[in-house]
Amino acid sequence: MIIQDSKFKKMYDLSEEQLMLRKTLRDYTEENIVPRREELDKEGTYPHDVHADMAELGVLGMGIAEEHGGLGMGMLEAALVYEELARGCTGVATAIGANSLGSDPFHLFGTAEQKAKYLPKIAEGTIAAYALTEPNAGSDVGGIQTTARPEADGKTWKITGQKTFITNAGVASIYTIFALTDPSRGPRGMSCFIAEVDPENLPPGISFPKKFDKMGINASETREILFDGFVVRTEDIVGGKPNRGFLHAMGVFDASRPMIGSMGIGLARSAFEEALKYAHQRIQFGNPIIQYRGLRAMFVDMWLTVEGARAMVLEGARRVDRKIHQGTKEDVTAWSAMAKLMGSEASRITLDALQSTGGFGYMNETPFPKMVRDHKILEIYEGTNQIQREQIALQVLKEFQKKGTGAPPELEEAAGKFAFSGGKTAALAWKVIDATLEQARREEAGEEPLTARQDLVWLLGEMAAFAEASRALAAACGKAGEPEGHWIPVLGEVYAREALLKVAARAERVLRGVRPSAVETVAPVLEEARSAANGLYTLRDKLGDVLLENPPA
Ligand SMILES: Cc1cc2nc3c(=O)[nH]c(=O)nc-3n(C[C@H](O)[C@H](O)[C@H](O)COP(=O)(O)OP(=O)(O)OC[C@H]3O[C@@H](n4cnc5c(N)ncnc54)[C@H](O)[C@@H]3O)c2cc1C
Repeated sequence: MIIQDSKFKKMYDLSEEQLMLRKTLRDYTEENIVPRREELDKEGTYPHDVHADMAELGVLGMGIAEEHGGLGMGMLEAALVYEELARGCTGVATAIGANSLGSDPFHLFGTAEQKAKYLPKIAEGTIAAYALTEPNAGSDVGGIQTTARPEADGKTWKITGQKTFITNAGVASIYTIFALTDPSRGPRGMSCFIAEVDPENLPPGISFPKKFDKMGINASETREILFDGFVVRTEDIVGGKPNRGFLHAMGVFDASRPMIGSMGIGLARSAFEEALKYAHQRIQFGNPIIQYRGLRAMFVDMWLTVEGARAMVLEGARRVDRKIHQGTKEDVTAWSAMAKLMGSEASRITLDALQSTGGFGYMNETPFPKMVRDHKILEIYEGTNQIQREQIALQVLKEFQKKGTGAPPELEEAAGKFAFSGGKTAALAWKVIDATLEQARREEAGEEPLTARQDLVWLLGEMAAFAEASRALAAACGKAGEPEGHWIPVLGEVYAREALLKVAARAERVLRGVRPSAVETVAPVLEEARSAANGLYTLRDKLGDVLLENPPA
């Protein structure tokens, strides 16, 4: 860990308890997961012993209210915890995290009775699974075909259909199952049922015909589920009323996506730290390879990726917490999606980390091949990253139409108070995005608005995520309390400049590629953005020096 705990605490306004939780999980992972992650991956079965420890540590009930046996914490704490768990093993983090996903429907939307009945079981350690995806309905959640038909007694329903790629299916004892209760209404006729199933003694109507052999995250089990007249109870319809399942599914994703982002950071950090350790030890041409500037620059990029993504994930997590715990009306979909997008894509650096170790990292006896195999799923499950890009862009466009800017109100503080740690540069990135949006929504005679093109919408989503991550990191680096020129504010500034250059390049590409005349109107903003490159390498060298002078323990 290059940034010390005391600084990290200041950067993210953490309490002593939150910092302690992070440290507890870090120590736990180091002792209990890292030494046997390869073994857990090879075994390919649910990590029951880690699960028991997580129940003991309170992690399984972390987000659950104290009255229901939990710790009453939120997504921010979950993000800290899952970063640590995934640093040890993303498969383990997925298996454990799926309990939270599986219980989120009744945790967030259940009746008082449902919460009182089921949440204590989750906190105590009952394994849960979330059954939404079907062979013909992945990204298209509304396209599910599994149905639930009411029985004449009014008290029960029979579920028929097939679910696929369900984490923890077959080992879980509590399932949240999405099914159509009114197929005539399509997605609006979907409901979520809670079902208790003894995996050792399956009730009629439910089976798990296939366990998938996956590319990675093998410490989590993934199965198909077949329902053939599986009986569930009316009182177990989440929220007590049918046909709200689609909203529940979307609400669960809003709340849980930052957790996936945090796993991406944990994995990325693990790869970065392991590779950096190696680079300090490996001698070539008479020197430790970290002394070579080119290689060091690769490490600077990896480090920036981890820090920017973490700032984004913690920002998304805080917004989710505000909405859930303080009941604010803010729409968190884009922030949750940005957290997932940036966090999961940060784990792409597993490839660079492996590259920086040469042939050593290609060997299965090192952790790198598993890290590379594990990283890919983070960009796929809980909504593919293309879907995230779209969700981000749609909300940013909405904001722009309402307020004339897609940027969040917090940008003003970043541009002023944290100007020295990247805030001013982040504001410029948002200026480029706003100028692009202004052009994008214009309907020139005979031309479609650029926002009608999905490929451009996805680019806009990506641009917003870069800009927002740089704003969040600028604020965090500014809060560290170091003066201008210290490497922490420099980290924020370099990240913001790299992000701005990416945003400007995409803006130019979007506009020039579709409507070259539009580029002229945004030329002054793009020119201003290019100034981000001025002196960039001097600043990057400063970060390189930090990596050179701080060999990981
Ligand atoms: C290991 C693993 C664990 C999982 N765990 C769970 C779980 O516990 N519970 C659960 O319910 N689900 C789970 N899933 C399912 C997961 O959420 C889906 O796989 C994911 O949402 C993508 O759906 P899909 O696989 O059907 O891909 P598809 O939706 O078929 O997508 C294929 C490609 O098309 C793109 N695409 C799709 N629609 C559009 C569009 N409109 N425009 C442009 N491009 C589009 C996608 O981005 C993607 O690149 C899991 C999946 C895996 C692999």
